[in-house]
Amino acid sequence: MGKRVLIVDDAAFMRMMIKDILTKNGYEIAAEAENGKIAVDKYKEASPDLTLLDITMPEMDGIQALKAIKAIDPGANVIMCSAMGQQAMVIEAIQSGAKDFIVKPFQAERVLEAVKKVVG
Ligand SMILES: [Mg+2]
Repeated sequence: MGKRVLIVDDAAFMRMMIKDILTKNGYEIAAEAENGKIAVDKYKEASPDLTLLDITMPEMDGIQALKAIKAIDPGANVIMCSAMGQQAMVIEAIQSGAKDFIVKPFQAERVLEAVKKVVG
């Protein structure tokens, strides 16, 4: 069975794109969320092997969501999805326990490289 991934991004097309890349490469989608608050709930429900977490989102941003997920599960595997110019937030995320980050616009190879590195 493929590793189960929680996809978190406020943009539906972005979630769709990530879902497409992952499902074509043998991964399963554990759940999706459009903001950090829902992401934390879905994390608790689904216990995914990996979470791909957008930084800029309404309600609760990716940094707060990362901290909440890490508080629930210190071993959580989280990869941040950032935009250009978010270096400070990426550094904060890595310091808060994110395993890697990918920068938009995504390239399928880079997404898969990061995912494989973190969960195989
Ligand atoms: Mg966003």
